[in-house]
Amino acid sequence: MTERRVSVSIRKRTLIIIVFSMLLFLGGVSVLSGRLVMESFIKLEEDSISGNAARAENMLLREAEGLLWVNRDWSFWDDTYAYMDDLNEDYVRINLQPETLETLHLSAMVFLTPEGEVRSAAPSPSEGGAAFMEWIRSNGAIVASRSGYEGFSGFFLLEGRLFMVSGAPILRSDGTGPSKGVLLFAREVGAEEAESLSRSILLPLKIHRAESTLPAELGGILASMESTGVSFLSRPLSSEVISGFSLLRDLRGTPAALIEITSRRDIFLQGKKTVLQFFLWLTLFGGFLTALILFLLKKTVTDRLENTRAILERIASSGRVGERMPLSGSDEVTSLSGSINSMLSSLERLVENIPDPLFLSDNGCIVHANREARSVLKTGNHVPEGKRLSSFLTEEKSGPAPGDTSPIFEGKLIPPGGPEIPVEIHRQSFLLGERTLTLSVARDISARKELEDSLRRMAYFDDKTGLPNRTRFLMLADEAIRSGETFAVALLDMDRFRLINDMIGPAKGDDLLREFSRRIQGVLSPGDVVARVEGDAFGIILRKRGAWEETSPVLTQVKKEVMTPLFVDGQTIFPSVSMGVLPEAHKCVSATAVLAKAEVALLRAKGRGLGQIALSREDEAAGSRDILTAEGQLRKALEQGELILHYQPIVRMGTKRTEGFEALVRWRHPDRGLIPPGEFIPLAEETGLITEIDCWTAGQACGDIARFAALAGGGKQMKVSVNASARSILEGDYCARLAAEKKAAGISPRLLTVEITEGVLIGSPAAAATSLETLRKEGISVALDDFGTGYSSLQYLSRLPIDRLKIDGSFIRRLFTGDGDRRLVKGILTLASDLGMETVAVCIEREDEYLWTLEQGATYGQGYFFGHPRPFEEAVLSLLPEQPLI
Ligand code: C2E
Ligand code: MG
Repeated sequence: MTERRVSVSIRKRTLIIIVFSMLLFLGGVSVLSGRLVMESFIKLEEDSISGNAARAENMLLREAEGLLWVNRDWSFWDDTYAYMDDLNEDYVRINLQPETLETLHLSAMVFLTPEGEVRSAAPSPSEGGAAFMEWIRSNGAIVASRSGYEGFSGFFLLEGRLFMVSGAPILRSDGTGPSKGVLLFAREVGAEEAESLSRSILLPLKIHRAESTLPAELGGILASMESTGVSFLSRPLSSEVISGFSLLRDLRGTPAALIEITSRRDIFLQGKKTVLQFFLWLTLFGGFLTALILFLLKKTVTDRLENTRAILERIASSGRVGERMPLSGSDEVTSLSGSINSMLSSLERLVENIPDPLFLSDNGCIVHANREARSVLKTGNHVPEGKRLSSFLTEEKSGPAPGDTSPIFEGKLIPPGGPEIPVEIHRQSFLLGERTLTLSVARDISARKELEDSLRRMAYFDDKTGLPNRTRFLMLADEAIRSGETFAVALLDMDRFRLINDMIGPAKGDDLLREFSRRIQGVLSPGDVVARVEGDAFGIILRKRGAWEETSPVLTQVKKEVMTPLFVDGQTIFPSVSMGVLPEAHKCVSATAVLAKAEVALLRAKGRGLGQIALSREDEAAGSRDILTAEGQLRKALEQGELILHYQPIVRMGTKRTEGFEALVRWRHPDRGLIPPGEFIPLAEETGLITEIDCWTAGQACGDIARFAALAGGGKQMKVSVNASARSILEGDYCARLAAEKKAAGISPRLLTVEITEGVLIGSPAAAATSLETLRKEGISVALDDFGTGYSSLQYLSRLPIDRLKIDGSFIRRLFTGDGDRRLVKGILTLASDLGMETVAVCIEREDEYLWTLEQGATYGQGYFFGHPRPFEEAVLSLLPEQPLI
C-alpha cells in the first residue's frame, strides 16, 4: 500500500513540477517579451506622432519662410523704395488695394521707417488687421530692428491672436540701399490655417495659442514641455487615440502655440495584437511541449517505475523469496531492478541458510519453506506450497505464559513418517502488500526437553522405584487439600529393612523396594498415589476415602500384600511393615502438616512392635517439631536478636579465590544452641514470618558489607548472596525493603545477589518477573537456587533476568554414584552457558567433585571443600589473612 502511494505521488509530483515550471516559463517569457515588444511599439507610436507634430510645425515655419520670399519681392523693388520717400498715390492705387491683401492672405502690410515708425500701411479690413496695426504702432521699433539684409519670418502672439509675420529691408531692386525701412507682412493664423495644414499632412490638427485661456490639460502639457525643454510630446487620449504636441515659439522666443495632432493608435493596437498573438502561440507551444515532456517522461520513467513497483509488490506479496525482477534495458531502472534482485538473492541466502526450519505462511497455508524445513519434511527442493502449515507444525495449546508477551510457543514439528520433533516456535506476522504473512521459525528443543524431563524426573520421582518422591508426594497432598476432596494418607515403613539390606546387599535391597512398590500399586485404585518418601518409607494417598472404615480394607490388603514372603538368593524373607494412618487428611492445613501427623502415627505404630498400624490422633502434636511450631518463639527470637548470620565462601572455580559469600541464617537458641535454618525456615514459611526473617537477613548482610568496607579499607569489597523465600519475593515488599537497606548502608548494588528458588517461578511467573525486574533495575543480581529440585520450564529461564544458576547440592553429591547425574549436570551447565548465565556448583565436599565441575565449566563453587559457613569475622579473615579484623 505504501509503495503504491509513493509511486503515485512521484507521478503527480513530476506532473506538478513540469506544469508549474512551464507556466512559470511561459508567464515570464510572456511578461518580458510583451513588455519589450509593447515598449517598442509605444516608442514607435511616440516617434510617429511626434514626427507628425514636428512635420506640422515645419510646414508652418516653411509657410512663414514662403511669406518672407513674397515679402522680399515687394521690398526689393524700386517702386516701394520710392514710395517710402514720396508716399506716391499711384503706388497705393496700383499695389495696395484690399484685393492685394486678400490674394496674399494678409491681415496687414506695414511700411516701417528704419526707426520703426509706421510710414504707411495697408491693413485688411478684418479685425485681425486692425489689431495688428494697433500693436505694431507701439512695437514697430522692436520689429524693425530684427530685419537684417535677409529679412525675417516667424510668429507673433498678440492678445487673443497669432500672426505669421515676415519682414524685409526696403532696398532698390538691385538690392542696394540705403534701406528706407522695413516692409512687414502679417497673416493671422486661425482655423483656416490649421485646416489647410491638416489637409496637407493628412492628419487632424489643432493650433492652440499659448495663452492663459488654454484648457488646464493643455496648459499642463505646455508647462511640462517648457520645463523639460522638449519640443515634441505625445499623450494617449484613450486606448484608441493619441495626440502629439509640438511647441511653436514666437519671434521673441516665448511659447506662441501648441500644435496638436491627433491620430488613431494603430501602431499601439497593432503592438497589442502582436503580443497577444505571440502569447497565444507561446501558450500553444508551451502546452504542446509540456504534454510531450510528460508523455516522454511517462514512457521512459514513470511507467517503468510503476511497472517495477507492481512487479516488486507482486513478488513481495507472493512471499516467494526465489522470485526475481525481470531485467530489460540498460538504464537506471534496470540497474535498480538488478539491485533489488541482489537484495532478494541475499534475502534468499539468508532465509535458506537459517539453521532452523523456517516457514512463511499465508492464512495458514505454506508459501515458502527454507532448506532446513524442506530437509526435515523430506521434500527435497520442492516447497510444499499451499499445504496447511498446521499439518507439519503444531503448537501447544497453552501458548505463552501469563505476562510473557513474546510470540514464542512450544510445539511439535511433524515430518511425514518420522518421529515428532519438539520445537520452540518463534512466530511473527507482518503485512505485505494486502496480505498478512506469518513467519514461523521452529527451533529444535529436543535436547532441552530431554534435560527438562530428566530434571522433572529427578525433582519428582525416585530413580530406584520410579515412584513419586517426597516432594511430589507433598505437592499431590497439597493439591488434594486445595481441591477440597476427601482423602486419607498412610505412611508405610518397612520394619528391619536395614537388616534385610545388609543381609542381601544394597542391589537386592533396591530390587526388594521395587517389588514392594509393585505390590502396593497392585492393591490401589486408579487415582490413588503411592510415593517413596524416604529410604524404606512409602506414602499412600487414598482418594475419595476419608474415614478409617473406608480406608482400612485397602490398607489391610496393602499390608497383607507387602508382608507376603518372598525368596531372594535362596532365602525366604518375611517382610514386615508398620503403618501410620491419617484418616481425614483433607482437614489439615498443609501437606507438611499431613506428613508430620502421619509420621507421628507411624512412630507410635513402630513403638508398638512389628507390623502395626496406628491411627493419627486429633490431639496429637507433631512430635519433635513441637518446640519449633510455636510461631511466637521464633518471632521473639527475631526481636531479641537470637538470629545470626554465617557466611560461606563462594569461590571462582579456576583460581579457588573467594569471590563472595552466601549469608546463611542461624538461630542461637538460649537452651538448644545453634539451630540450623532447615529446622525453623519451613515453619517461618508456613506462618509468613519468613518475610521478616529475609528482611532481617538482607539488612544484616548490607550492614556487614558496609562494615567490611570500613574495616578492610583500600577499596576492598565483599560480595554477599542472601536467600529470599518465594513468599518474600511474591507477596511482601521484600524487594523495596532490600533496596532501602542497601541505600541505608550506602553500598553498591553490585555487591548484592538475591537467591530465589524455582518455586518462585512455578507459582506465579508474572509476579516473579515483576519482582525480578525490580531487582534488576536496582542493579541487584539474581541467582536461581537449588536448580534442578523443582521443575520449571527452561523456556522461562531465558526470559527472566536471572544472572546465575546454583546447581542443587543433591546432584553434586550423586556425581559419582552413577553417570545419570553427571549427564544432567553437564546439560545444566551447557544450558546456562547458552543462556549467558553464570553457574555455581554447591555442596562440593571432595576434590574429585571440584575437579569434575571445574572441567565441565562451572563458574563458581561452594561447599565444605572451600569453606564452611562461619560467623562474619571469621569468614572475612580469608579475604585479609594477614590483617585481624577484630
Ligand atoms: P541453601 O541456600 O541451598 O544453602 C546452602 C546450604 O548448603 C547451607 O545449609 C549450607 O550450610 C549447606 N552446605 C554448603 N556447603 C555444603 C557442603 O559441602 N556439604 C553439605 N552437606 N552442605 C553444605 P544451611 O545453612 O543449613 O541452609 C539451609 C537452607 O536454609 C539454605 O539452603 C536456604 O535455603 C535456607 N536459608 C538459610 N538462610 C536463609 C535466609 O536467610 N532466608 C531464607 N529464606 N532461607 C534461608
Ligand atoms: Mg542459597
